[in-house]
Amino acid sequence: MIITKKKDRSKLLKTLEGYNSFYLIGCSECASLCGTGNEEALKEMAEDLKAQGKTVTGMIVPKTGCQTLGTKVELKKDKDALDKTDAIVVMSCGAGTQSAVEIYPDKAVYPSNDTLFLGNMTRFQMFDERCSLCGECVIDKTGGICPVTNCPKGLLNGPCGGTKDGNCEVSDEIKCAWVRIYERQKKLGELDKMKEILPPKDWSAKQGPHKLYTRADAAEGDKKGKDKK
Ligand code: SF4
Ligand code: SF4
Repeated sequence: MIITKKKDRSKLLKTLEGYNSFYLIGCSECASLCGTGNEEALKEMAEDLKAQGKTVTGMIVPKTGCQTLGTKVELKKDKDALDKTDAIVVMSCGAGTQSAVEIYPDKAVYPSNDTLFLGNMTRFQMFDERCSLCGECVIDKTGGICPVTNCPKGLLNGPCGGTKDGNCEVSDEIKCAWVRIYERQKKLGELDKMKEILPPKDWSAKQGPHKLYTRADAAEGDKKGKDKK
């Protein structure tokens, strides 16, 4: 899931002070799990805006904020409220915010959250980064533990030499990723896999902006759209 945290509320309200009316958009997926885009978070935001003398014309927690087409359909029912809104505040991740920008190109759109990383909720409201979206997954070779993300140096072929008592030299609050990988491979009886030298990573796979069209007709349509410009 995409992990988000609320922006400093007083700074956000300052940013929004030039507008009088707002429509709030959350997200029932990751941002709801993070408590940054659920109904409760939206109501809290509405109260804070009203306390500043602002009007909240409406709010919605769409099914998936970054599913642009689905969100567009869900927003249709609130067209009137949106039409009389000065600005939209999106309480999801940066992708959800940009859905609103695409749906309402002539409206001011502001994010209420900072988007931090791709990770897991390990316990209620506790989030740990798990994947850096490197574009070329290697965890089939590393016991299912990501060295790119869990080792602060992103080392692909064993520890740096600074490991101390099993912990990382960068922070003794985290276990060395390569100790974790070793322990797991040992448990699985697959230590031999550690002898394989991984090639340097092709970081070009991480270079954005990415696109992935799994429908050939969609890819073709996008190309035609570009040709027209
Ligand atoms: S190797 Fe890359 S894709 Fe796989 S989990 Fe790590 S960062 Fe993510
Ligand atoms: S101690 Fe381990 S986790 Fe930390 S930087 Fe070195 S190899 Fe990476």
